[in-house]
Amino acid sequence: MIEIAEEHARRENATIITSVTMEIGALSGVVPEAMEFAFEACSKGTLADGATLEIRRIPALGHCQECGQECAMESLLVGCTACNSFALKILKGQEMALVELEID
Ligand SMILES: [Zn+2]
Repeated sequence: MIEIAEEHARRENATIITSVTMEIGALSGVVPEAMEFAFEACSKGTLADGATLEIRRIPALGHCQECGQECAMESLLVGCTACNSFALKILKGQEMALVELEID
């Protein structure tokens, strides 16, 4: 992740990354707190050293194959909010993406 940020910053001839914004889906399996910790540890000595990390949590959305309803998914252990079916197709929520980069 930091490599991507650094590569991008270099391309823009930046010398420092001041802030990084990431979107993390609720079903991505990534814990925001763990991500913050890892970011701090991994950014040492890179262009992103000292940068602030902002995490936007993206709620997950599923499409029920049984009743056709679209429903919010808090986790994979929760079924359809309308009919309790577990035949849910995940539409959104598994992604992890770097969405914004502030550089100097
Ligand atoms: Zn359903």
